[in-house]
This record gives sequence, C-alpha cells and structure tokens, in this order.
Amino acid sequence: ETVEHKYVYAFAEGNKDLKELLGGKGANLAEMTNLGLPVPPGFTITTEACKAYLATGEEPDGLADQIAAHLASLEQAMGKRLGDPEDPLLVSVRSGAKFSMPGMMETVLNVGLNDRSVQGLARQASGADAQTSGGADRFAWDSYRRLIQMFGKTVCEVPGEEFEHALDDAKRAKGTHDDLDLDADDLRGLVDAYKKIFFKHTGREFPQEPREQLDLAIRAVFESWNAERAVLYRRQERIPADLGTAVNVVAMVFGNLGPDSGTGVAFTRDPASGAQGIYGDYLANAQGEDVVAGIRNTVPLQELERLDKKSYDELLGIMARLEGHYKDLCDIEFTIERGKLWMLQTRVGKRTAAAAFVIAGQLVDEGLIDLDEALHRVNGAQLAQLMFPRFRLDHEFQPVAKGIGASPGAASGKVVFTSARAVELAAEGESVILVRRETNPDDLNGMIAAQGILTSRGGKTSHAAVVARGMGKTCVSGADEIEVNVPQRRFVVGGQTVVEGDVVSIDGTTGKVYLGEVPVMPSEVVQYFEGSLDPEHVDNPLVRAVHRIMSHADGRRRLAVRTNADTGADAARARRFGAEGIGLCRTEHMFLGDRRELVERLILARDNTEREAALAALLPLQRADFEEIFREMDGMPVTVRLIDPPLHEFLPPLEQLAVNVAVAQERGEDVAQEEALLAAVRRMHEENPMLGLRGVRLGLVIPGLFAMQVRAIAEAAVTVTRSGAVARPEIMVPLVGAVQELETVRAEAEKIIAEVVGDSGVEVLIGTMIEVPRAALTAGQIAEAAQFFSFGTNDLTQMGWGFSRDDVEGAFFWRYLELGIFGISPFESIDRDGVGRLVRIAAEEGRAARPELKLGVCGEHGGDPESVHFFHEVGLDYVSCSPFRVPVARLEAGRAAV
Ligand code: PEP
Ligand code: MG
Repeated sequence: ETVEHKYVYAFAEGNKDLKELLGGKGANLAEMTNLGLPVPPGFTITTEACKAYLATGEEPDGLADQIAAHLASLEQAMGKRLGDPEDPLLVSVRSGAKFSMPGMMETVLNVGLNDRSVQGLARQASGADAQTSGGADRFAWDSYRRLIQMFGKTVCEVPGEEFEHALDDAKRAKGTHDDLDLDADDLRGLVDAYKKIFFKHTGREFPQEPREQLDLAIRAVFESWNAERAVLYRRQERIPADLGTAVNVVAMVFGNLGPDSGTGVAFTRDPASGAQGIYGDYLANAQGEDVVAGIRNTVPLQELERLDKKSYDELLGIMARLEGHYKDLCDIEFTIERGKLWMLQTRVGKRTAAAAFVIAGQLVDEGLIDLDEALHRVNGAQLAQLMFPRFRLDHEFQPVAKGIGASPGAASGKVVFTSARAVELAAEGESVILVRRETNPDDLNGMIAAQGILTSRGGKTSHAAVVARGMGKTCVSGADEIEVNVPQRRFVVGGQTVVEGDVVSIDGTTGKVYLGEVPVMPSEVVQYFEGSLDPEHVDNPLVRAVHRIMSHADGRRRLAVRTNADTGADAARARRFGAEGIGLCRTEHMFLGDRRELVERLILARDNTEREAALAALLPLQRADFEEIFREMDGMPVTVRLIDPPLHEFLPPLEQLAVNVAVAQERGEDVAQEEALLAAVRRMHEENPMLGLRGVRLGLVIPGLFAMQVRAIAEAAVTVTRSGAVARPEIMVPLVGAVQELETVRAEAEKIIAEVVGDSGVEVLIGTMIEVPRAALTAGQIAEAAQFFSFGTNDLTQMGWGFSRDDVEGAFFWRYLELGIFGISPFESIDRDGVGRLVRIAAEEGRAARPELKLGVCGEHGGDPESVHFFHEVGLDYVSCSPFRVPVARLEAGRAAV
C-alpha cells in the first residue's frame, strides 16, 4: 500500500523553516498564520508538486484531490464558495520559490470571477451602502477585466500588448488618459473586448468554470519556473535550476474598495542605513499592482496614522512582533480592506552592506541575538563594499540610469566610446569611462586605461563585468536605458545626449549612472581601519558596529591572517589593517624599474665575472629592501619568496630588439653589442614563459642568484635584530615540483644562513610554495625538506585547469560563466572540487609526514570569502592576502569558526 504524498499544506500546517518545500512566501505566510497574525486564509502547493509536474508534464497523482480538499476548507473558513454567483470567494494564485526571484514568475489575481460571479461581487462590494454601488460595479468589472488580462497573458500566452491596446482604445474613446475615468459600462465593454482577444488567440472562450481557472493558473505558475527570464535570473544569481516553485492559493482581499481601503509596504528598520524608525509607503484605495505600476504616488507610511489609526497601530504592533520573532529586519506587504488589516507577505528583508552591520550591532544591543549570530548576519563581500570610496550624493545628483552593479567602486571621467580613444585620453592623464553596448576581448586595452566601464547590455557575467571584476575596476553593466551609438560617439539617456568628452559618474555597487562629476568621499570604514577614526569616540553607528563585529571575529577565528606585501609601505598599511605577518613578499617586484637592467645583465651574463658583478650590485639593494620590511613587521613572521619572474618580464622584448638592430644596421651603425644581446634573448625566448624557466628552475640554472637573495635576507635579519627589533624570516622557494629541487636549494641556503647568522639569535625557516600540481601530489616527500608550505593557488589553478591566468578571463571566461560551467572564476574563488582537492591532499600528506608543518595560502584566494571558509575547513594555519583584503579575511575567518 502506498502512502499518498502530501502536496498541499494549509498555512496552519507550515512554518518558516520549510522554505525548500513551501517557498519563501508560503513558509512565511504559514509562520505568520501560526503567530496568530491576520493572514488571509489559504494553502500552499509544494515545490515537490511543481518538480513532479515539470518532470512529467502532468499534475502528480493525488494533487487534484488534495487541492479540492484544501479549497473546501478555505471555502468553509471564508463562508463563501469559489466563484459563487451570489457571493464569490476569489483567490490569488502566486508563485513563491525558496529564494526570492522578484517579478520573474507568475501571479494570477481574482481567480473565480466569471460572467455571473462578477455580478455577485458587485452586489457584495456595494453592501448596504447604496452610495457606493456605482463604485462597486466599477470595482467588480475592473477586477474581471484584470483577471482576463492576467490569465490570458500568463496562462494562455495571449500577447499582453493586445490587452494594452484595447485598454488604450477604451480610454481614447472616453477622451482620457487615466484608467480611473473608465466607469462600469466602459469596463464591461472592455471585458467584451478582452474576451474576443482571448478567443482570437486561444480558439476557445474564456473559461467560466472557477475550478478550471484555478487549475490552469496553478499549472501556469509551475511552468513559469522555466520561463526564459527566470532561467536567466537564476543563472545570474546562482540559484540552482532544480528547486521548483511553490504555489500559494490565497483568499483575495481588496485594497481598492474605497477610501478606507489601501495597500502598502513596510520595513521594520531602514534597509538603507539600518536606522530604527518607521519606513514604508502606503497607497489608499489601491491594489499592490497599482503601487508597482506607479500609477499614483504613494505616501509615507506615517500618513496612515492619520488615515486609519486603528490599522496603523495594529500594523506597528505586528511589525514589532515580527522583528522579535525573526530577530531581524523584516519587510512586509499589507492590505487594508475596509478598515481591516491583512498581512500579505513578510520576509527577512534585503539591506545594504552598511545596514547589515548596523542592524546586527543593534540586535545585539537589544539582546535579540548574540555576537556569534551577528557574525552570521554580515559577510566579507559587504565589508569589501564598505571599503570602497563612495559618491557624496546630495539632491543635486539624480541618477539618469540604473544598470547592474557589476564591479564595485565609484568612478568619474570623460565618456569615450572606443578602446583606442580610451587609451589616447588616458595617456594624456584624463580619467575616462569607457561606454559600450557590450565589450569584447578587443576592448581590453581600453578597459585597462579607463577608470570605469559602462555598458548598456549584459549582466553580472557579461564580458565587461567579468573582466572588470578581475581588474578590480568599477563597472556598471546592462544599463539598458542608455542608447549607445558608437559611430556617432554619443549615447542618449532620458532624452539627453551625452557626447564623447562629457563627464559621467558610475557607481559599481548600486549600478547607478550620473551625469557630471559626483564628488567622492573616502570610506569611513577604511578610516577606522587606518586608525584615524576612533570607534569609541566617533558618533558613527556603522564604524561602531564594524569595530564590534571585527573584534569578535578576531576573538573567534583560528586562522591567522597575513598579507602579501613587497614594500615597507604596504607592510605598514596591512599591519594597521590587522595583518599578523607577511605571507608572501614577491622579490621579483623588487627588480623592476631601474633595477631591471641588473637582472638582465645577470641573466645574459656570458661568464662568471659578469655574473658576479651583477650579483654584487644587487646584494646591497636587496638587503636594504628586507631591512625595511623586517623593521615594519617587527616581531611578526615574514615569508620572503625567492625570485620567481616569468623570464620575459626581465628581458627586452624580442621583436622590439630585432627591429632596433635592423634599423641601426640600415643606418650603418656598429651593432655588435646589440646583436649579441639579440642572440641571447633569442636563445632564451620561450613560447610559454609561465611554464618555462621561472621559480626554482631559474635558481638552479643561474648560479649565485638564490644564494645572493638568501644572504641578503639573513644579513638584513641580523642587522635588524642587532638594532633591537625582532626579524622572523621565512625563506620560500617557488614553483617546486619535486623534493630534489627543494633539497638542492635548501642545502646551499643552510650553509649561507649558518655562516651569516652565527650566534645572533636569528632563526630562519625554509619552506616551499605548493603551486605545481605535482608538488601537491608528492607533498609527503616534499614535507621532509620543508618547514612550511604555502599554497600558491594562482599557479595551482593555472596548472590544475591548464588555464593561462593572464589570458583566459578576457578571452572566454564570460562564456563559461554564461554556460554555467562554473559560477565564478576559479581564479577568484577556489575550485573546491579540483584545485581544492589538491590543497587538501597536500595538507593531509604534508602534515602526516611532518606534524609541525606550518600551512598557509598566499594566492589571491586568501582574500576571497568563500575560499577562506574552505582553508579553515582544510585546517590551514593562515591565509595571506593583499593589504586591502586583510579585514575581509579576518571577518570571514571569524565567520568560518562560529
Ligand atoms: C601563486 O601562484 O598563487 C602565487 C602566490 O604566486 P604568483 O601569483 O606570484 O605566481
Ligand atoms: Mg605562483
């Protein structure tokens, strides 16, 4: 015997934790019902039913009967029958998935109206009050025409414009632009016109049977899960495609029954700033759709106190209750039908990054949540947003368009329409904003030159968005109010024309676009981290909340947070931001600029004498670099990585050199020296420099190079220590794939260290990067020769996937993201399944071979929120990231630990 599957839940049977099954809306309606709040009666058809329907194209067995049973209870509760000709119960049929997908799926209102029940509705609406009976007729016919329109469009795919045109015709015939001027007779005529449109497109009459209307509407909501825009939205927001939507069937209540009715939205705190108070909008004598359509202007919620004190007080009481119950900011939709308040929806509300911190702090003060819970209420992405400079907006600046905030930041500059022009103007020192319909790989130079990027097409995974995020550049994508005309070098927005050279400002967090230069103000959160705002004394709720939550995160986290820094200045800033050491000092960065030539001399040296001269010139420079950094990081560990340049970065470009030699020869100049250089560069030329002579390989091939660096590190450490500070150097060997490589370098290094350090008390550790897949897979062997591992997840991703890290993001990642092959660039967030597995193997096998082995990560992933959680799980000792990401890593390490 089979137990029948339960597909339908009365509101009283659900609760807020059943979002997966009942969708967000259904679960919260159930929760409110059980709290005893005034929710119109109704029931929810589960996501399971939706999935079963989508899989087979048919309603699953038992669903129809369960709906009938719940409908009967609903009818009983309301004392009315669905579509009854005398006094009809009407219902709304609303979608509601686990994750909110605003406006993506379907809703049908007023189900149960037909040629007969429309009369009954009119009679009931007029009630005893003869005065309003004209209004009641109008209301009933308007409700009916809305049903045919919504049902036609949603359920039967009748083109929506046809209904719009018929409505326009009716208004034209009446000589008006306003729906409200149409009277009952006009609307009755419109219902006839709508029915004809319905017949024309479907070949059948508009269904008069209420239960058939209901069943078809439910089916349409199921199917809307796979509507194109819903599919796109899910891909964009990374919502799984297989969740399905629930369907809520709810008794209709009407906010458009006269001046004592209305509809509104409310927030229990300000979702923008987090401030306490009464926030919301109200529209008298209207339905929710009218608010959305913006037909009339809403009034602030406070006005309701004057209009209907009883409902207002009740609403405030309910809001306080909901906050206390959900222990969080709630947003609410409500309707008042003739002085009776009804709650149509609530949910834990979306909020800005600043509000998230402020509210979490307030809730702790109010005793509703503890600090651990406060950590769950905020995240590193929000903190990162708060660290960008912001536009200082006053009423002068109104956005002219709004796109998608694709890459955060605030950028102003002169508008340019081509990559070439962007490069030209930037070279003259101008700030430019590159404006395109969409970008493609040919725009890369322009994107690099620009301050920000603005496109009229494409979402969060478009080429522009992906590449801009990769470059940390401000980007607004998909601002579709903007009409871009590249040949004419102009765009039009809201009737205004913007030509090349005009200044615009774009906000990559909110997606808003402004004309003119909006002044920028620094982030208070950065000022706080920098130490220039004292959280105890500044009257800034955001700074106080950030301080409190960060302090708690620091108390909780197990991961240490270090920084990637190559200069004293970076090290100092990172330390102010809370770094507890340097996890990666890339020494090749110390050889750029004027010193590049010294390295070139070293690489191209023809004999020992030339080589030793080059090394001797480099040694004191390196020693000074390290002294500066050790002093800044007094007492903290500093991981110095031996040089790892892709060779081509230190050699003159081959083509350029060849041209120079040819030109000089043409002129009859003596080119013997240049020719020798050219020959050497040719000899060393690599097709794949990132897989070529770099890292430890270079150290093994060029005698004395690593030795010089090791000596500089050891000497600097001794000098700094003798001066009273504490230097804790950790020497790291890059690109090791086999333990023998490391052993060779280590043997030489230990000799030098012993000789330099003597009895100074300086201790130097020697370890390795794990960034070649082979190293991860032989970590047990490598650990025998290493005192620490630091995962170079940039190279590990590059070599694990075989993706050239310098090329792929602009070239094809946008397509991979569009196709959902991955949801985020694996260079941005660690690929847990693949590259992450290599990390896990190496951590386990390394520790098995050497239990005291210290483990860290220094690839870009060290500052990525998701990845920090992964590194916590794998049991690393620290993450290391760029100075600006240090607070984000601290926060996420804390969150990972609670
Ligand atoms: C890495 O590969 O992850 C790393 C930190 O080294 P680099 O980025 O310098 O190659
Ligand atoms: Mg690397």
